[in-house]
Amino acid sequence: MPITRILKQYFGYEEFREGQAEIIAALTSGRDALGVMPTGAGKSLCYQAPAMFLPGVTLVVSPLISLMRDQVQALSANGVPAAFINSSLDGGQYARVMAEARSGARKIIYVAPERLMSPSMLDLARTLPVSLVAVDEAHCISQWGQDFRPSYLDIPRFVDELPKRPVVAAFTATATPRVREDILLTLGLNAPLVVTTGFDRPNLRFEVRRPKDKYAALTEFLRSHEGSGIVYCSTRKEAEAVAGKLAADGCSAARYHAGLSGEERGRSQDDFLFDRARVIVATNAFGMGIDKSDVRFVVHYNMPQNVESYYQEAGRAGRDGLPADCVLFYARRDVNTALFLINQSGNEDEKARNRRLLGQMEGYCETDGCLRRFVLEYFGERVEGDCGNCGNCDGGFAVTDATVDAQKILSCVGRMNKQNRAFGFAVIRKTLQGKRDEGIACRKLDELPTFGAMKDASASYIRRLFDKLAAQGYIALSDDSYRTASLTARARDVLLGGTSVTLRDDGPEPTKPPRPRQTAPGSSKGAEGAVSEGLLARLKALRTDIARKDGVPAFVVFSDAALVDMCRKRPRTEEDFLNVSGVGQVKLKRYGRQFLGLLNGVGASSEPQTDRQ
Ligand code: ADP
Ligand code: ZN
Repeated sequence: MPITRILKQYFGYEEFREGQAEIIAALTSGRDALGVMPTGAGKSLCYQAPAMFLPGVTLVVSPLISLMRDQVQALSANGVPAAFINSSLDGGQYARVMAEARSGARKIIYVAPERLMSPSMLDLARTLPVSLVAVDEAHCISQWGQDFRPSYLDIPRFVDELPKRPVVAAFTATATPRVREDILLTLGLNAPLVVTTGFDRPNLRFEVRRPKDKYAALTEFLRSHEGSGIVYCSTRKEAEAVAGKLAADGCSAARYHAGLSGEERGRSQDDFLFDRARVIVATNAFGMGIDKSDVRFVVHYNMPQNVESYYQEAGRAGRDGLPADCVLFYARRDVNTALFLINQSGNEDEKARNRRLLGQMEGYCETDGCLRRFVLEYFGERVEGDCGNCGNCDGGFAVTDATVDAQKILSCVGRMNKQNRAFGFAVIRKTLQGKRDEGIACRKLDELPTFGAMKDASASYIRRLFDKLAAQGYIALSDDSYRTASLTARARDVLLGGTSVTLRDDGPEPTKPPRPRQTAPGSSKGAEGAVSEGLLARLKALRTDIARKDGVPAFVVFSDAALVDMCRKRPRTEEDFLNVSGVGQVKLKRYGRQFLGLLNGVGASSEPQTDRQ
């Protein structure tokens, strides 16, 4: 079956996300690969789709037992025969999985790294046709990373034990070059294709608040936001206190920190996963294993110790690609707590390093600039302009309407494009300012109607506005070194459609304009269809029913993204239903009738339209 068929049939998706197609092409043609992609980018699909394409079995090495269980559940719900082997299985279960693997009844088997070199696993692997070994959280092999696991060093030894060398694929969200290098070397990848995607998560909205009363701010946040989420605290004591208060105030809150027994932690995690608890209040002990794709917010009740941890923790929101909020409650005294914690452990070098990292974290909390830009530049990415979708870009500050000037810039670029020409910022600015130098004259740009349209504007003002238009996707810049500008289709919204463009004043007085809800760029086909909240709520209720009956987390039935797509597309027939993102053959068969019943019962006419875009 061609890989695009596999994508639709088993996973229900129409197209690949950034990086996926290249990695999958490499793996299916027998080449090793390393994928460095942020959380939520879709790394799992990069080995799950090839597993269905390649003959034989794919072994997935994954560090967390809870993660395996979720992944296997989600795969089974898609009709992909998968299983896991780890210490949670009893003897009988273990024997059954082994037998199924031998008989070819399983295409994907998750294995804990500690198991790999055990005699029974080696026996099994030697008799199985293993086509692909995929290493999840591959940074665990590096001693430079924070999550080093000695058992990961068994992976290359295990691969060497196999009669025929399989293709090896490694995946991580860790960006540092040193760790990446370590993965390539230690894992022994063979002329691998290395794919690094950008670290931006466009569907996440970042914000820093400085509430006087953090608890009041938290309850207000929970009142005004939907869905479930994580509240991170920096100490166990604070996590206990916040969870206790929330519970007393009638909010279903679970707690999670290293001071609880394994059993308690497991229970908390399950309560959160199965939506029995809306909120989990946790320390950073609640980490890597969280595979819940519909986390709608991550609130940091305290400032974390460095930007990398912050981005990793906040990044657990919105893995399904739908809008999600990452809010940090900042208070100066968090800095003192962090310093205290830092000074408690490690040698002097480490302490000095951690204090430096803390300084950058403070920088994030204190900046007036775009938060997304701050983070991406921290990770060494080049960022063009502000994001327009973070707390600093779109709220909390006085703004000036700059729509007319924006229209002037766009129309200038548009006229250049109409003549099949595109220029970089400097030429555009000079044209707008009416500066007739040699370059302008020989290109006849002084004959454009927009020549001199912004005669009185300063260069820096035009720059800010231009950057903003680029950041907001009204202008596209070429990716060569000239960075020439062309209008995007969206520019019409500003030129004709009444969409306004604002710039933040640099003045100090904060105001709070209501913020527009942004549709995630990743959530397919943008804002074309309005989503009825009423219908969405009913679809969610149906999903909850089914999930309870089947004993699986709700997002295993359908992701939020799939339900939103149902609202947009309003499928009537089974064929329509297959067009919904996230609906493959098995989900059509399993749930199609119930969801279509609900959707068809809802007539398009009388639906109350409390729409969001
Ligand atoms: P990662 O492991 O990189 O953190 P996941 O593999 O968990 O990310 O994927 C995140 C979410 O994105 C999942 O809900 C997954 O089903 C979804 N997803 C993956 N690939 C695609 C795609 N091509 N189109 C739409 N959704 C996708
Ligand atoms: Zn921003």
